[in-house]
Amino acid sequence: MFEGLTGRLGDIFDRLTRRGALSEEDVGAALREVRIALLEADVALPVVKQFIAGVKEKAVGQEVLRSITPGQMVVKIVHDHLVEMLGSASEGINLEAAAPVPILMVGLQGSGKTTSTAKIALRLKTRERKKILMASLDTRRPAAQEQLKILGEQVQVATLPIIPGQQPVEIAKRAMQMGRQEGFDVVMLDTAGRLAIDDELMAEVAAVRDATKPVETLLVVDAMTGQDAVTVATNFQDRVGITGIVMTRIDGDARGGAALSMRQITGKPIKLLGVGEKVDALEAFHPDRIAGRILGMGDVVSLVEKAAENIDKAEAEKLAKKMEKGTFDLDDMANQLKQIRKMGGMGGMLGMLPGIGKIKNQLKDANIDEGILKKQEAIISSMTKAERRNPDIIKASRKRRIALGSGVQVQDVNRLLKQFQDMQTMMKKVKKMGQKGFMRQGLA
Ligand code: GDP
Repeated sequence: MFEGLTGRLGDIFDRLTRRGALSEEDVGAALREVRIALLEADVALPVVKQFIAGVKEKAVGQEVLRSITPGQMVVKIVHDHLVEMLGSASEGINLEAAAPVPILMVGLQGSGKTTSTAKIALRLKTRERKKILMASLDTRRPAAQEQLKILGEQVQVATLPIIPGQQPVEIAKRAMQMGRQEGFDVVMLDTAGRLAIDDELMAEVAAVRDATKPVETLLVVDAMTGQDAVTVATNFQDRVGITGIVMTRIDGDARGGAALSMRQITGKPIKLLGVGEKVDALEAFHPDRIAGRILGMGDVVSLVEKAAENIDKAEAEKLAKKMEKGTFDLDDMANQLKQIRKMGGMGGMLGMLPGIGKIKNQLKDANIDEGILKKQEAIISSMTKAERRNPDIIKASRKRRIALGSGVQVQDVNRLLKQFQDMQTMMKKVKKMGQKGFMRQGLA
């Protein structure tokens, strides 16, 4: 039923029937899976180790909410720690300097540098109402300067006129000069890339940096290149110094682990994400989305959060006791219905589990709906205390009275009583299975 990490952790914990606080062994078993998931997602080994240690510290001793599995609980802790390590808030581009503010774009050839330059220019133009000048310093690739010019026309952002034969530092100086003279707010300098890191490239970028004193030096990396992207980032950070990272091709099937490694190893924030080839396919960096991607886990985290918000713990404890003793009655059922309704109904809850979204509509058709839950609550509240304690006494005339009192048909009352019987039967089974918890059985 589950996919990705959640499923694997679920399997581990399903074998355990222990409840309450997470023990060191539980967490240890789960973290072996987390470790594999992170490595599969292309997170660098030292980062994985550091991460696991951090999660372990947080998870051991945590109370598990009754309505969710320990596996889901661990996923939530792992997720939150991932978000924290990815850098919690999405940081914008720094424009705090006298105009024209120079922004240097660096990275390997093919990383999406030129495209990202145009995307950022468009974003700053439309969102911040900035007047932008773009200049290509790529004198190697014959069509590079032309490419930026065409992109400039597309996004309606000015580009520096091309003077054939001029060298990168000269072009950069000319761009800054034009920026000053013509009142531009921002000058974006798109440096040349190479297929791999080399000294010449680094020297060239460093010379442009010294000549222009950029406020931002944004490294563009291709998320699909995984670990290589991290090596590239380390090199640029050591030799040129970067202020932020733009990760491109997030729309591909990269698992996102490079983001975590890069953030940890360079200490620099990921500022923007490229999510497609179009000029507006640029997004602010949301650590939670990347975390979800790394874990491949659907929306289990919000499920856990919802459970934590809505499930009254004392109530759940009481219920578990009753289940153990076999004294579950219609009052308890009414309580259960209320809890389920609070969580957005069965449909709402199921929709949050990975892979279940699709069958949600079918559930709606099957009438597992809020309206039904309310109706059932109404039926129970039309019963007398004695009836709720001992439903066996509810015969034909009582049924008619209850139906009248709650505005339903007698067959609705019958259906509810039948459901109650089914619940009781199920609880006996649960008891035998080692009390995995009512909610989970209800959903299975
Ligand atoms: P540069 O050599 O680093 O300047 O790379 P380019 O900007 O020329 O981009 C290389 C290719 O990658 C082009 O075909 C772009 O359309 C494409 N590209 C850039 N960013 C993205 C992205 O976020 N997603 C996708 N799918 N393609 C991208």
